Order: sequence, then structure tokens, then C-alpha cells
Amino acid sequence: MSIDQATGADRQAAPTTPTAGTELAASGARLLRGERTWWFLGPGGVARLADRHVTPDGGLRPEAEQRLRASGMFTAATVRSYALTVLTSTHCNLGCGYCFQNTAQDLAGGSRPPRIARTRLTSETITSILGFTERRMAAVGLERLRILLFGGEPLLNPRGCLELLERAADIAPTSAWMISNATLLTPSLARRLHDRGLTSVQVTFDGDRDDHDRIRVGRADGSGTFDKIVRNIVKASEVTPLRWTLRVNVSQETFHGVDALVDRLGAALDPTRCTLYFARIGDVGVGYANSLLHTGELSSAFTRWQRRALELGFTVNRPGGRKTCVTCGHTDGRYGAVVSADGTLASCWETAGKPDWEVGTVADGYLPGAGTGDRWIACQDLYSYDEDARTLARFRDTVDTALLDHLHETGRL
Ligand code: SF4
Repeated sequence: MSIDQATGADRQAAPTTPTAGTELAASGARLLRGERTWWFLGPGGVARLADRHVTPDGGLRPEAEQRLRASGMFTAATVRSYALTVLTSTHCNLGCGYCFQNTAQDLAGGSRPPRIARTRLTSETITSILGFTERRMAAVGLERLRILLFGGEPLLNPRGCLELLERAADIAPTSAWMISNATLLTPSLARRLHDRGLTSVQVTFDGDRDDHDRIRVGRADGSGTFDKIVRNIVKASEVTPLRWTLRVNVSQETFHGVDALVDRLGAALDPTRCTLYFARIGDVGVGYANSLLHTGELSSAFTRWQRRALELGFTVNRPGGRKTCVTCGHTDGRYGAVVSADGTLASCWETAGKPDWEVGTVADGYLPGAGTGDRWIACQDLYSYDEDARTLARFRDTVDTALLDHLHETGRL
């Protein structure tokens, strides 16, 4: 939207001093200079601004801020569903070297890095999870449930996935999504999961086929998985209206194949049912190094991939302001929970199932905050980069500005 469309400007007192970039950042907002316009990205949306709305040093003028506030751009959307993440299996049939559930690299150089302890969701634990969830939802006044089926590989326990969704519908209107490697997704399983509320699946590609088949390999025999994953998505799409979020991992090992990958996916899949996004993978302390730096070359590549994806008909999500994750953004599990397959609670996806990171159990609830304060972290907190925060922020801002400019120029925004 353009700021000129903002309404209700008289509902709040006008700020009297310009808002500097640091203050904007503290409120979860960013102000980016595009080719022909300024972009305001706030927790409540994106607005296009003119030079007259911005101070010479890149801050927001008081009148502009007032109008943005009045139109809700500084206010995050109301949480409407309780976000429940459940690991139905902590084991995985693949052996990705960067997996945050590995405890080290495979010292033999094979495809079997050591992992967190193996557990599997049972009917009894589902009973405890749903009892806990009902209590938490009542406490915060939420009436809808959004479940993330997570692992390990969630489909190593298909019965657990199906039973969880089926029984969750008895406590609240439920919808679900899943993060899966998709190697075990059959059409019949996709249909049964969809019938029980599954709406979308996130699947990862580690670069183009050859790179992917070297990195994302079967744990048992090191075999490639690219063709199987694509085939399974195609077949599941024939029997369900599932949507797909395709995550492309970017590292020094995959970088040069990403252009070809985008075209390959565009030819093999129905882009109108897929969202494509690119993510530079980082090291979570398991010794998986990514030497790709956040340089101008990398930001140009991200922009090129995003534009090609849009051209092929994929969805590329519009950048926004910083949003508080409903699952790990609150240090008391207020709007959601992450539950491992044995019923232990973690603060975020990346600590789930890891020893010494438990913040409670579904049977007994959360442990007192005093003893677990340092375990309440968010997903990104574990990643370490060789570059400073300013370099990372500059990279993100450059990529996001180019995307917003392009969406605007092509009439998509
Ligand atoms: S498929 Fe996912 S859970 Fe399995 S090893 Fe790879 S990153 Fe880890």
C-alpha cells in the first residue's frame, strides 16, 4: 500500500520528533530506499513512501509515522491459533551433514552422522499432548489449533501423524502443515493427511540435482534423493490440493547450481502451487562450515533467483517487518509449544529432543522459569556466522529492497 492510502490519521497523537533507524528496528520495522521509492516494512505490513516522508538521514518524519501507526503498520496481527509443533519421530532416514539434530559429523565420512536420541510418538503421548494443549489454549483464550508435523522425519511415523491430527480435531478446529524430506510421502498417505487437515508441506532442496544427491542422501546407503522427492511431490499433487513450500539451501556447495535448479523445478512441478525461497544455511555447532559470505555477489544471485522464480509462476513471499514467532518468540510458551516425540517441551524447533534443553513436559507443564531461563531461546539463536550483524542486515536489506522494487514494477504489489 502507499502511505497515501493510510486512514484514521487522527486517532493517535502525532509524534513530534523524527523516528531514527535504530528506533524503527527496535519496533520490528525497517525503512529501505528502493530505486524510485522508499519502503516501510513494519510488523503490520508494507507501505510505499515518498522522499517527503523520510528525513535526510533515513528516519521517518513524524507525520508519516503517525499515519503508519494509525493504519496498523506498527502492529502485528492478532494471534488466532495456538501453534503446536510435534516431533512424531526424532529419527530420520536421511543423513544431511548440517542437520541441527546431529550431535557431530560422521567421522567415517559417510552418511550416518550421530543424532539426538531416537523416540517415537505413541497414542499415550498424544493423549498427554492434547490434554496439555487444551489447557494452554484455554489459558490464553485461543480456540483454533495449527499443528506442525515435524521430526526428524515425521513420516517415519505415519500412524502418529494421522492419529495426532484426527484426535486434535476433537479438541479444536485444526489445520496442519508439515516439514518433511518428502522421500516417504505416498499419494495415499498425502490424501489421508490432507483429509485430516494438512494444507501444506515444506520440502528442502540442496541445490540442483547433482549437488542435492551428494548432500541430501539416504542415511542407510548414501543414495541420492532428488528424483524421488520431485516424483513424490508430483504424485501427491495429483490426488490432493496440497501446497508446497520449497526451501533451497544455499552454501558454497550448491550456489552454482541454483539457477538450473529453479528452471528444473519450474519444469517438473506446478509452480502455481509452490512457494520458493532461498536460505543460506549456517553452522549450528555441528561442524558444518558454509564459506559463502554475504557479499554483493550473493545478494545479486538471490535477486536473480527470486525474479526467475516469479517469472516461472512460483510464489516468492513478500518481505516484511520482523515478526515475533508465535512458537519461540515468547519466553513462556504463551501462544504455542514445541513437543518432542516423548512429550518433553522445548522452547523452539532447534532445541527439541536435545538433552539439557527441556523446559518441561506435557504431563507436568513448564518448569519454573528461574531454572530454565537460559533454555528459552529462538530458532536462529544457535547459528553462528563469520560475519557481523551489520553485514547480515545489509545483505537482507539489499535482497528485500530489490524484491519489493521488482514486485512493484511488475504489478504484483
Ligand atoms: S532430512 Fe531434515 S531431519 Fe533429516 S537429516 Fe536432513 S535436515 Fe535432518
